[in-house]
Amino acid sequence: MIIISHYRDKCIGCNACVEIAPEQWAMSRRDGKSVLIGAREKKGVYTVRLPDEAWEANRKAAEACPVNIIKIQKLP
Ligand code: SF4
Repeated sequence: MIIISHYRDKCIGCNACVEIAPEQWAMSRRDGKSVLIGAREKKGVYTVRLPDEAWEANRKAAEACPVNIIKIQKLP
């Protein structure tokens, strides 16, 4: 299991995460920021738990994010 967190307030809408992992990220037409698909919001931070298979693409998305607001962790 992995967990991804998105500090969405600081998203600049560059589209990098969407290009790298479109199965998990989409652009919002409403505010031009990306959306972490399936995530729940708590105090402005969006999180989702996913199977290990989602690690590689989302790790690349996190590395590519120019404002470093995608965090990804492996859960025990
Ligand atoms: S890569 Fe980062 S800044 Fe760019 S759209 Fe995704 S979350 Fe937002």
